[in-house]
Amino acid sequence: MHALLVEDDDRMAHALGTALAQRGHTVRRFGRALDALRHVNEADFVLLDLGLPDLDGLELLRRLRTVCDAPLIVVTARCEERDIVQGLRAGADDYVVKPFRMNELMARIDTVRRRTGTPAGRADDGGPSVRTGDVEIDIAGRAVTVAGAEVRLTRREFDVLSFLAARPDEVHSREEILGRIWGDAFLTASRSLDVHVAGIRAKTGRAGLVRTVHGFGYQLGSPPVGDERAGGR
Ligand code: CA
Repeated sequence: MHALLVEDDDRMAHALGTALAQRGHTVRRFGRALDALRHVNEADFVLLDLGLPDLDGLELLRRLRTVCDAPLIVVTARCEERDIVQGLRAGADDYVVKPFRMNELMARIDTVRRRTGTPAGRADDGGPSVRTGDVEIDIAGRAVTVAGAEVRLTRREFDVLSFLAARPDEVHSREEILGRIWGDAFLTASRSLDVHVAGIRAKTGRAGLVRTVHGFGYQLGSPPVGDERAGGR
């Protein structure tokens, strides 16, 4: 995904740019509001600092919203309730106050993007639903059906599956999945990710539903219909 990073502080921009790149995003950074306005149409999502040298960030936010509806998170040192309310009212999808925890911000980005829907992802009921083979994953409704029959997954199993399903074209690193689902506790959860993936494969009876990318992570797979063997690779 293409991130538009509007941030005039070089150190902050570098830290954010590195974290985003590690999660597979391409990043375009601007330190000035008017430059960001010119390039916002390229963005799949936007991170916006409010303290900018050439225009107040809230004013920029309002102008961005007239030309672009990409998911947008304000990342700012302004922490007064009034600021947060104004930011959300002006069209921000989320609001993160500096200093912040990087994993938390990355998780919020994923959440906002899932909630606002990628271009391909919106169903008529307003929630995205993803189909692969004979498996249907209702992300908003937190339900999975295989060949029309509902399969019960644990909360974490569903979190992992819906995370993969939200962006089926992307391979997700173990660190990204762990950071997203387990947050700061992910160092201790590393092996349980494999356990959860095994659970998804076994319960759906679709071993190919989650594809292992060895030495890296996982991706949503395309299980052949009638793939009844559970627990395979
Ligand atoms: Ca600033």
